[in-house]
Amino acid sequence: MRAFVIGNIALDETYSIAALPQAGASIFGEQASRSLGGKGCNQAIVLARCGVETTLVAAVGTDDRAIAIGKSLTREHLTPKLIPVDSATSDISIILTTPDGENSIITTRSAAAALDRDAALDALGDTVSGDLVILQGNLSEETTLVILNAARSKGLTTAFNPSPLQPWFASILPLIDIAVLNRIEAEALTGESGAGAGAFLLRAGVGLVIITLGGQGCVLVSANGAIEVAAAPATIVDTTGAGDCFTGVALASAIRRGVAIDARALEDASRAAAITVGRRGTQDAFPSHEEMMAILRA
Ligand code: ATP
Repeated sequence: MRAFVIGNIALDETYSIAALPQAGASIFGEQASRSLGGKGCNQAIVLARCGVETTLVAAVGTDDRAIAIGKSLTREHLTPKLIPVDSATSDISIILTTPDGENSIITTRSAAAALDRDAALDALGDTVSGDLVILQGNLSEETTLVILNAARSKGLTTAFNPSPLQPWFASILPLIDIAVLNRIEAEALTGESGAGAGAFLLRAGVGLVIITLGGQGCVLVSANGAIEVAAAPATIVDTTGAGDCFTGVALASAIRRGVAIDARALEDASRAAAITVGRRGTQDAFPSHEEMMAILRA
């Protein structure tokens, strides 16, 4: 099974600040890093570092940022399909982090929103039955629907991480085999929490649901019932990207063993995410290929 992430790619600019600003405030901060980011790109890099054959499809502008993005991607062992869009600017994320490990993120989605149905369908041209398509919340409603419907008719497995939340997500739930979402997203989508939110999503047509609960771990809800897995011990430095790392490793662990997502996949994902939250940054904080292999073989 190969993974096709169709999502967004951005440059991440991370700033350390003492506390999140109040409305109207001007505060000092320090630039901590500038690196590749975007939920689609993050999840693709995690899958690739786990040894899964991964293609990343994402739109960029035709600007300097796109050149920097293309260069940075060559460091990862994945197949990039960057689609240049004249009318868009390449996306950027401004990440604010505080000493207690909290973060707030502002993401542009000019390029991601410009990925149109033809480009999306073209991207699916290389897939064969049994491949996995992974989407997040950054694409337009039309493009997301086109991809999910085409994936269904081609016999692909679909995974969806509904982040950032969009008002139309409820309508696509029957087209999703695997949903991975955090506590806030689960409550917003279902009005329920924990396993109750998972059961709601199953009734709405999702095949299998994973809800991540930060330091409280995660819960897997499927037709076989609910399984809770505790978070791995961690020293918190910066929680940015924990969810993307978790999502990529949970999918990769199951793909590599040729099984549906199970408790072992969540344990592997929790160990990898615990490493991520113990380091500053996003992709720099993800476990390396060697670290991923040690986690997945353990
Ligand atoms: P983010 O937006 O920060 O990337 P998220 O909100 O999507 O993350 P979370 O539920 O916060 O996702 O975290 C995902 C996983 O990361 C958790 O299920 C857990 O395994 C790990 N994790 C997050 N916070 C902690 C923590 N404080 N201690 C240990 N593990 C953690």
